[in-house]
Amino acid sequence: MHGALNPGRTIPLSPAATLIQGVVWQCNCVVIRKDGHALAGDAIWSHHDLAVLTGMIADHDTHLLITHGDIDHCSCIGACPHAKSVGAAATAERIASGSAAKNLRAEAAAWGLQFEGEPRIDVVVKADARVPLGKWHVRTVEAAGHAGDGMAYLIEEESLFLVGDYLMASQHPMVWWSLREARRTTERLLETIERHRIERIVPGHGPFLSHAEALTVGRQDLAYLAEVERIADDAQRKGYARREWEIAVMDVPVPRPCASDIEMLCPRLLNARATLRDRA
Ligand SMILES: [Zn+2]
Repeated sequence: MHGALNPGRTIPLSPAATLIQGVVWQCNCVVIRKDGHALAGDAIWSHHDLAVLTGMIADHDTHLLITHGDIDHCSCIGACPHAKSVGAAATAERIASGSAAKNLRAEAAAWGLQFEGEPRIDVVVKADARVPLGKWHVRTVEAAGHAGDGMAYLIEEESLFLVGDYLMASQHPMVWWSLREARRTTERLLETIERHRIERIVPGHGPFLSHAEALTVGRQDLAYLAEVERIADDAQRKGYARREWEIAVMDVPVPRPCASDIEMLCPRLLNARATLRDRA
């Protein structure tokens, strides 16, 4: 991948909402603005894209919606000291423990990047809540699985759903923590999209999706995750050693390929290890 750290694009999603989409990992950060208020969130992996974000929310009373504590989702917080960052209790704990900042610094250094300030969560939200934030009402949906922490945010007035690292048309599911929980979260996200007839779905990475597109991607992902679970159950029943088990899961056909900057993280191996962790 050449020019990985080149500036990303800004894409209008509605009169109030703009998507900043980066080059590395196709990180998505949405900015919604109205009457001096802003909501923004959450993935950024470039100094330029971060400067676009801070420029857009300058002089705005801003809430940052943090879907989880992974490096690319907490990288924007330190540069926005005047914003209030919103996240799940598990995300707040992960950040308060210092592990999120440590991982952020290490991976940033590998890219020749340095993100100013420290991550933090100012406002802890529970799942299944309807929270007034600025000019909007935000519904929260539990979204752990990809990581040990996770929250998705439906901005009602914009019919816009920030789902974190699920429903990504640019790659297949990638699970750092629990495949079982990632599957449950994917089901929960699809139910929410259908029940609220959500029009705009913004995953952490890759193209933003229409209602119909999100359902298609989600159903493909669920079929893949179900097959992974079936193979993992089979591996357990047969008493496979760890490496046999990993290969069996890695051989499950994926619904779509990943770009090199995702493939370098070995996503199929991560998924295999998540099934081992679930059954440990
Ligand atoms: Zn991410």
